[in-house]
Amino acid sequence: MNKLQVEAIEHGTVIDHIPAGMGVRILKFFQLTTNGERITVGLNLRSGENGTKDLIKVENTTFTKEQADQLALFASSATINQIANFEVISKYHVELPEAIDEVLACPNSNCITNHQPAKTRFYVKQSDQAPKLKCQYCEKSFNVELFSELN
Ligand SMILES: [Zn+2]
Repeated sequence: MNKLQVEAIEHGTVIDHIPAGMGVRILKFFQLTTNGERITVGLNLRSGENGTKDLIKVENTTFTKEQADQLALFASSATINQIANFEVISKYHVELPEAIDEVLACPNSNCITNHQPAKTRFYVKQSDQAPKLKCQYCEKSFNVELFSELN
């Protein structure tokens, strides 16, 4: 039996233990496909006895801890594996950040950040299901699904 579910990569990042169904959402939300690096995605992979998970391998790409922690918005169970020369050189769990700076545009079209050059800041609030993000400027709270990245 071949235990390898997705082929190994030489250098890059493996995002593992993504809840099944969230892998594609993470690819879109973080625009992972736009930098031209090869990406391998595994969906509904076996995980543990009965579970399933998604997995994303991004070659030649390193996430900062800050970037990786943003993944916790969709996948609080995710682990980050940093790969060099086919070896795992670091591995950690993502942690929901307290705030997310600059990368997100406010979904409120009346928000001042959409009309004046301003760096956005959203406070992360844990709720029953998906976390919510509260804009520092207009003070409205939004589900994470409402966001699209700047640019
Ligand atoms: Zn706002």
